[in-house]
Amino acid sequence: MDEIRIDDLKVFARHGVFPEENEKGQNFYINAKLEMSLRKAGLTDELGASVSYAEVCGIISEEMQKHTFKLIEAAAEHLICVLMKRFESIKAISVEIRKPEAPIDLEFSSVSVCLRRRRHNAYIAIGSNDDYPEKNESSEELVEDAIRMLDEDPECRVLFRSSMIKTKPYGGVATKEFINGAFILETLYEPEALLDKIHEIENACGRIRKERWGDRTLDMDIIYFDNEVIDLPNLTVPHRDMENRDFVLAPLCEIAPDFIHPVLRKTNRELLEEVKEKCIII
Ligand code: AMP
Repeated sequence: MDEIRIDDLKVFARHGVFPEENEKGQNFYINAKLEMSLRKAGLTDELGASVSYAEVCGIISEEMQKHTFKLIEAAAEHLICVLMKRFESIKAISVEIRKPEAPIDLEFSSVSVCLRRRRHNAYIAIGSNDDYPEKNESSEELVEDAIRMLDEDPECRVLFRSSMIKTKPYGGVATKEFINGAFILETLYEPEALLDKIHEIENACGRIRKERWGDRTLDMDIIYFDNEVIDLPNLTVPHRDMENRDFVLAPLCEIAPDFIHPVLRKTNRELLEEVKEKCIII
């Protein structure tokens, strides 16, 4: 991948754990590496085909001064989110923040953190078959709330979403009709952090894990995460059993019919064709 680099951008700001750091301020030095294709800019010689490093420096300087974070980790995370939102052509960003005047009573030249984040596409299945009386919300409203909460997260953006379908309960435990859908989420989270975020939203929407396949206010599953194959104790991607679930595959086919299951090597469209005889969509 091509890169634009910014080295040692000096910004006077007020980040730090100690109150005197927030009051007095100090110098920070920022290195940024923006990964993106520069082929078009190279061929056309047009600034519009690239990212203006002057604008990037301006944003970094302004954001560093506008906020006061305790940790330079948080400052770097914030800079990455802002730059990713502003420049869609950037695929990945590394930000290093150095703090040569950190309050340490020993001889040192500088302390620093370096964060790298890249864009991922997660394919999420969503479903609900129970309302949440505490919030006076129906299944339909809970699903909308959950998608909105993810879209509003600084590290996420909903790219495409399917329509919602009604389905019969699956697995022989749940009793009420479900509504199901799917969406593609662009995210800077790594898979386990995304799973945590999803659980946080499920809990905010009244999810209580009573029994497997039981009635639920909200359920979100990571079906695919880029082309990755993940086998962790708490996370299996592609989602286990998705190829047997038409209520997952039908919405997925609306938004990504040609996406290839990285293990089965079949498209979502082919997987849906194979499962159609077990159809439970109403
Ligand atoms: P669920 O009942 O669908 O919310 O899932 C219960 C558990 O499945 C969660 O606690 C997850 O740790 C685990 N799990 C494994 N793989 C996945 C996945 N791809 N997406 C969501 N949850 C998963």
